[in-house]
Amino acid sequence: MKFKITKLIQQTHDVKSFWLNPAKGKVFDFKPGHFVNVTANINDETVKRAYSISSDPDRKYIEITVKEVPKGKMSSYLMTLKEGDELELNGPYGDFVYENQDKVILIGGGCAVAPLMSLFRYINKHNKKAQVVFIISARTEEDFIFEKEIKEISNDNSNLHYFITFTRTGETCADGFSGRLDLDKMLKMVQNFKDYHYFISGSGMFASVIKDIMLSQGVDKNKVKIEAY
Ligand SMILES: Cc1cc2nc3c(=O)[nH]c(=O)nc-3n(C[C@H](O)[C@H](O)[C@H](O)COP(=O)(O)OP(=O)(O)OC[C@H]3O[C@@H](n4cnc5c(N)ncnc54)[C@H](O)[C@@H]3O)c2cc1C
Repeated sequence: MKFKITKLIQQTHDVKSFWLNPAKGKVFDFKPGHFVNVTANINDETVKRAYSISSDPDRKYIEITVKEVPKGKMSSYLMTLKEGDELELNGPYGDFVYENQDKVILIGGGCAVAPLMSLFRYINKHNKKAQVVFIISARTEEDFIFEKEIKEISNDNSNLHYFITFTRTGETCADGFSGRLDLDKMLKMVQNFKDYHYFISGSGMFASVIKDIMLSQGVDKNKVKIEAY
């Protein structure tokens, strides 16, 4: 399906969000957590890559949020596009989807906060009794994607909380934890691990480390969903 870029948002120094409207008709139905495939002809080669949807399903557009990978074929190409350009996009795909659970922990590393942002936005509007802890791992304060909106939602909705750890910031970090996410930090963020459903997204290594922490705390593996980039 052809989509037109209707808005570009520079989220951080190397991450951009793309608002995409179908060239014809309406946006397809999807659930928070789904991803799409983007296909493009780049230097005479057909390149296809997966991108999580970061918008919630109420919007009239699909938002994807892309980090530029040095020398990466698709991400570098996407960074050159302008509002009005078109993209081939298909979906929705995946089973990393929110099923109206009431106690939810969202854990994301780097730009893999994208699908979690769709859940956070959706839950804020549609499940008033849900309790959510959104745990983010970012390199530095400059890499905190969706900072303003995450802070606003958490301020407005006392059931939704967030914590952030900056992996490359020193001890003097003003607003958040410092260093990699580990059990010690998570014990300060979450009470009663076993009560929650977990959505973990990030690199394969990140997701597997965090999943092992959850399982070591007695969390049922059927309550843990993973999206590995
Ligand atoms: C289900 C799913 C959802 C995804 N959602 C998103 C999303 O929402 N946002 C997003 O930005 N990406 C997302 N990705 C990753 C995305 O699909 C691409 O892999 C990424 O954009 C790099 O593609 P590229 O063509 O630019 O790089 P490539 O040309 O494929 O890779 C170039 C080089 O960079 C290395 N590389 C690839 N990815 C990274 C990385 N992240 N960090 C460092 N080095 C890397 C490769 O090993 C290779 O050596 C998702 C992946 C999956 C599987």
